[in-house]
Amino acid sequence: MLRVFTNNKGKTFGRHLTKTARFFQALVFPYLCLNCRILLNPGTAGPYTGQACFCKQCLARGLPLFEPPFCTRCGHMFDAGENHLCETCLKRLPRIRRVRAALAYQGLVRDILPLFKYQARLSLTRFFEPLMFDAFSRFFENKEIHRILPIPLHTRKLRQRGFNQSFLLVRGFAKTYCKIHGTKPLWKVDTTSLKRVRYTSPQTGFDIAVRRKNLKNAFQVTDTAAIKDRNILLVDDVYTTGATCAEAARVLLAAGANRVDVLVLARA
Ligand SMILES: [Zn+2]
Ligand SMILES: [Zn+2]
Repeated sequence: MLRVFTNNKGKTFGRHLTKTARFFQALVFPYLCLNCRILLNPGTAGPYTGQACFCKQCLARGLPLFEPPFCTRCGHMFDAGENHLCETCLKRLPRIRRVRAALAYQGLVRDILPLFKYQARLSLTRFFEPLMFDAFSRFFENKEIHRILPIPLHTRKLRQRGFNQSFLLVRGFAKTYCKIHGTKPLWKVDTTSLKRVRYTSPQTGFDIAVRRKNLKNAFQVTDTAAIKDRNILLVDDVYTTGATCAEAARVLLAAGANRVDVLVLARA
């Protein structure tokens, strides 16, 4: 039901609801803070905004968007100035052409991302997905992307978790695109051409060298024809050291991908 209210900006069905309809909607599906679960007054804010999804106390922790200035390549955010290449990228240009994000991995984002990923708080998707689509539209041209690939999970991990959090972030992309443009997108969300063939233990807490070693040969391209000469957009939930995306990009480029960009929910 709530999915109906999560389309992209300007096209939100929720905005057209009358006050009475809103009242009944709230009775049946009360608005709870997606973090602490206290009851919210839905008010008049768009249903996907921070104000409509979180209480004041939680919002006070900060919910910063991913915004310039940042490194034009790896998306590392700067405190001031213009967009430019960061020192690390200047020293060695990464394989990934651009890393862009919806949010900065700070404040409230640090609380809700683990809830989403490890405690299956999937109601957060209604907040995350429109933000992701918005970031996608802001930072990428539709015609320059051929395939959108959520970072795959190993079958064992997928079975344990029950869902792939990266896929949930882009699951509704094609539908949202159709609603806005009235036509099908040229790109395709692809969950089969890249596979995770190596089970890796949870990354948190490991240093970068250990992470890289753990990830070596973790991915495999299963459909070369789908990847060769294509522009790939990898999607992940969070970008910290970038080791996961870098390894996936290496494998995709080795399989003949034209270029690899990355879109994440939150950039550390
Ligand atoms: Zn709250
Ligand atoms: Zn950089």
